[in-house]
Amino acid sequence: MGHLDPYFLTLLDDTQSMLREVFGTKNALTLPISATGSAGMETCFVNLLEAGDRALICRHGVFGGRMAEVARRCGAEVTVVDAPWGRAIDPNDVARIAKGGAFKVLALVHAETSTGVLQDLSPFRSIADSCGALLVVDAVTSLGGVAIEIDRMGIDAVYSGTQKCLSCPPGLSPVSFSERAQGVLENRKTPVQSWYFDLTLIGRYFGTERVYHHTAPVNMIYALHESLRLVLEEGLHARYRRHRDHARALWAGLEGIGIALPVESSVRLPPLTLAQIPEGVDDRKVRARLLDEHGLEIGGGLGEFAGKAWRIGLMGASSTPRHIELCLRALEEALG
Ligand SMILES: *Cc1c(COP(=O)(O)O)cnc(C)c1O
Repeated sequence: MGHLDPYFLTLLDDTQSMLREVFGTKNALTLPISATGSAGMETCFVNLLEAGDRALICRHGVFGGRMAEVARRCGAEVTVVDAPWGRAIDPNDVARIAKGGAFKVLALVHAETSTGVLQDLSPFRSIADSCGALLVVDAVTSLGGVAIEIDRMGIDAVYSGTQKCLSCPPGLSPVSFSERAQGVLENRKTPVQSWYFDLTLIGRYFGTERVYHHTAPVNMIYALHESLRLVLEEGLHARYRRHRDHARALWAGLEGIGIALPVESSVRLPPLTLAQIPEGVDDRKVRARLLDEHGLEIGGGLGEFAGKAWRIGLMGASSTPRHIELCLRALEEALG
């Protein structure tokens, strides 16, 4: 199927309208970027930031740190607000800095996959308003797994990925820009730094004009179309509930076999659980055994949790009772 074939273009329209439904938005500029989640991150920052702009970035894990790095490479003057690993960002810390000046962008991660923390986004729209900033959110691990409604939450720019809770192969990054963000984009003083991720150009292919920019990855669009269809067939609320209920079962099971959960229960992220490695247990050996004997992959810890915690994913199609039972049984066996 050619990427300008009229049939394919109807599939693209369907994909965009399903994406709007899953994001909870009416934003016209809602489309999949042709690369993984990090490309969606890059797209948000290169389109909204120009050299010398000020950006306020929240960092409580790997992905907030990556946002700060990308914003710096756009030539922005970046202020970082940190929270300890395994904790949520304290909105009071952000509000204090926001009060002190104007920012073009306030950015934070909704579901921090490196630590298993779910960030409450509700205080951040008014904080962004207090410093005149656009609110940018990383929803890579929340889309399709945890409730996110970008219009209701007043989010201006958001990006996600296909291979987390959408259970689609890796390779696309859905993004959405509000009218306000689009206005900022249209009023830039300089061209977008990246030609490939320039939404003023890409938007003309995904809009009504269908002007060629780069060849759409046809196979991946088919895959995303099917995964969104499955998400909507299940129903968003049923899907969020499934992720939450299964996560709770996993948490209870882990504690039942003596594995501590370092993240406080009020901010625990259902699609990804941080589990403390018990004293004296060999991290690599246990993970290798799970993979070799059970075909089960769990993640190693990142950053401050490297060698100290595991990251257990229950995302999309993998969030099932069978996987939870298998994981608990295999861990219990490996730990003796
Ligand atoms: C996975 C992930 C990313 C990066 O996505 P890639 O598809 O690996 O490029 C960004 N943010 C969060 C929160 C993620 O979990």
